[in-house]
Amino acid sequence: MTDRMTPPPALGCRSAPVLKQRGQREVFCGLTGIIWLHRKMQDAFFLVVGSRTCAHLLQSAAGVMIFAEPRFGTAILEESDLAGLNDAHAELDREVETLLARRPDIRQLFLVGSCPSEVIKLDLSRAAERLTQLYAPKVRVLEYSGSGIETTFTQGEDACLASMVPVLPATQERNLVVVGALPDVVEDQMLSLLADLGVGPVQVLPARTIDADVAVGPNTVFALTQPFLSDTHAALIRRGARHLAAPFPLGEEGTTAWLAAIASEFGVTQDTFDTVTEAPRRRARQAVAQAAEALDGKSVFFFPDSQLEIPLARFLTRECGMRAVEVGSPYIHDEIHGPDLDLLPAGPQISEGQDVDLQLDRCRAARPDLTVCGLGLANPLEAEGLSTKWAIELVFTPVHFYEQAGDLASLFARPLRRKRILNGPALEAAQ
Ligand code: SF4
Repeated sequence: MTDRMTPPPALGCRSAPVLKQRGQREVFCGLTGIIWLHRKMQDAFFLVVGSRTCAHLLQSAAGVMIFAEPRFGTAILEESDLAGLNDAHAELDREVETLLARRPDIRQLFLVGSCPSEVIKLDLSRAAERLTQLYAPKVRVLEYSGSGIETTFTQGEDACLASMVPVLPATQERNLVVVGALPDVVEDQMLSLLADLGVGPVQVLPARTIDADVAVGPNTVFALTQPFLSDTHAALIRRGARHLAAPFPLGEEGTTAWLAAIASEFGVTQDTFDTVTEAPRRRARQAVAQAAEALDGKSVFFFPDSQLEIPLARFLTRECGMRAVEVGSPYIHDEIHGPDLDLLPAGPQISEGQDVDLQLDRCRAARPDLTVCGLGLANPLEAEGLSTKWAIELVFTPVHFYEQAGDLASLFARPLRRKRILNGPALEAAQ
């Protein structure tokens, strides 16, 4: 199924030594996932059980919603809660009762833990069970942690989806579940490609509403669209489903390889595969080539942040002509990241975890043309003359599958073009 694809490098990075470091980390908290998840799940509400800091983070990250009633909120833990003076469970019950009475459209309620709720050891799983009994079958109450104590910002989505897996209906049917929250327009493109290939039935987790028939069982196979879904991956395997390991659908090559893994599982012929993918592949290649002019020959350094780093490094090196200096990821799972590591040409330092000061030293020594990092590091590095790309933008922007491949390359090209314009042609000539 993949014979018309660029061959893998003679030596990939799957068996390369990994630099593992643990120290101070610069990452965003898992509550961030609510910003894209609440848009995706139209009948869900995310109730963060947290402090005013958590409420401010959500408000400023999401922007203030003036015209629509938002589908997230914060049950504020006051100082007396934190001091153990109040019965936080009784207060949470009251909050939920008021919310559900006011918002009959809510069918799924997620209680989202935070640093403060974890510090006072508020047992949200007990609360979710109690509230499910109270409000079933109209409302399903689940819980997960978005705490920033030990997580990266994309783990919020992973924890949310993993919390849904145990309550998915069981099936004996052979089906494909595609896992990962994508913007609706991108999800529709993907479903249309799979339908054209004749693959089905296909379900998506998270579904847009609770009524969607996502079911899982021993004949289910699943494909991930995001590389940060390791807990969801483990939860689906516990339910008997089988993972279709593949590179992630970023760029023309990643999308083709991802579709090829599914096509091969479902017995799609090479002819059908070529007929369905030929035109979008060509469009993607042309769009990437145009955007990649600014990237060709440039070096890139990834700080660990979104967990998208490995597939992005594969895309930038193999499709855009960049050279990866270091590819840092918060976590590396062989089953999930292995296929992308196979395609990533040997050379870059692969690192897992972070000791931020040591990593900054390596970055300054390498002086890459482009550094992909979190918001906290971007400004200081820009001040030192390094061009940066915010990792978080890659999660908020539609970047998956063929039609977005050119936009993905453009996201990385933009800071380099901006620098070229700011520096002017004279400085560039002198370099
Ligand atoms: S969960 Fe923790 S890191 Fe995130 S906003 Fe709340 S206090 Fe801050």
